[in-house]
Amino acid sequence: MRIVLVGPPGAGKGTQATVLSRKLDIPHVSTGDLFREHIGRQTLLGQEAKQYLDAGDLVPDHITNGMVRQRLGEPDARRGFLLDGFPRTVEQAEELSGMLAEAGAELDAVVELTVPEDVVVERLLGRGRPDDTEGVIRRRQQVYRTQTAPLLEHYAGLLRTVQAVGPVEEITSRALGALPHHHRVA
Ligand code: AMP
Repeated sequence: MRIVLVGPPGAGKGTQATVLSRKLDIPHVSTGDLFREHIGRQTLLGQEAKQYLDAGDLVPDHITNGMVRQRLGEPDARRGFLLDGFPRTVEQAEELSGMLAEAGAELDAVVELTVPEDVVVERLLGRGRPDDTEGVIRRRQQVYRTQTAPLLEHYAGLLRTVQAVGPVEEITSRALGALPHHHRVA
């Protein structure tokens, strides 16, 4: 099963992706986590990406797409994945379809987590990540609205919208229930 998770910063994508990937037994592929790992290991890619994460801007596609292509080419991701944080633009979505088409695969669902803005800011400020300062949070929200939100229309046919407010387990069951029928877990 191949799933994309979208939602504004603070929607709880990372939390839900971790639980869902375990329940569905598919790898959780988070581009944010991959970037943070590269930055931590001080790889060349990490050095290039850092300024964008610090600013709350998108890392350019020539860096991001290659990293995703490599990750999705690893054996564990061949039979499925839960993508968290990618694609974030229509261009990236087109790149992803190309990668999947090469492998004769396609997406099964795009799950959108929605939350009211005040809940989002509260969650982010409680998280303590280095890019969770007020200015950078505001910038990431703006990037989401202008660059990522158009994805929702692009994926209209695959889109399943889930209200991401309330206890984590309830949001997880809503997300599982929103998946195409043959993929549901009892
Ligand atoms: P996240 O952990 O998903 O909130 O991502 C943290 C940061 O990583 C973002 O603010 C971007 O700077 C960068 N990033 C993550 N995914 C992408 C992507 N698909 N395209 C470009 N930049 C990304």
